Amino acid sequence: LSSKPSQALVAEEIKKIRVGDIKGLPRVIRAGASVYEAIVSMFLEDVGTLMVVDDEGHLEGVVSRKDLLKAAIGGGDLQKMPVSVIMTRMPNIICTTPDEPVLAAARKIIEHEVDALPVVRPVNGQGKKLKVLGRITKTTITNLFVELGEGRS
Ligand code: ADP
Repeated sequence: LSSKPSQALVAEEIKKIRVGDIKGLPRVIRAGASVYEAIVSMFLEDVGTLMVVDDEGHLEGVVSRKDLLKAAIGGGDLQKMPVSVIMTRMPNIICTTPDEPVLAAARKIIEHEVDALPVVRPVNGQGKKLKVLGRITKTTITNLFVELGEGRS
């Protein structure tokens, strides 16, 4: 047997999996928190990317390890500097939604060269505001790959 039919089967199975099936918990920090607090939170939560939210939990931005390293070597007072000053902010955040196929989300991660995507839904009647529901990361995708390969998904 050639491997073509089984490859097509694998592709078909992968295309059925949606972001909502595998998304992880959101890891968020408030926009008013300091860069110092963001660094501590990154260690405590054991993540490489934090979603930055306002007091209502709406997405304002994303802060990554390199953003924090850049701030740390910049010489400012990290306890006084708000994380909102150094984050990548809306509307430049690449997001995904629970009903998007995981394959499309993975392509976004590769094309935009980021480690994580916030999983969001629009807030009813509030214009462009987005509620953060979770996250998809390179780790989420790697776990899925292993589960599929070991026949557990
Ligand atoms: P790291 O900084 O650890 O290499 P990334 O490659 O994910 O992590 O981040 C690179 C840059 O892209 C950072 O400035 C970060 O703020 C930004 N970034 C991270 N995730 C996203 C996203 N989903 N949408 C837009 N920008 C992002």
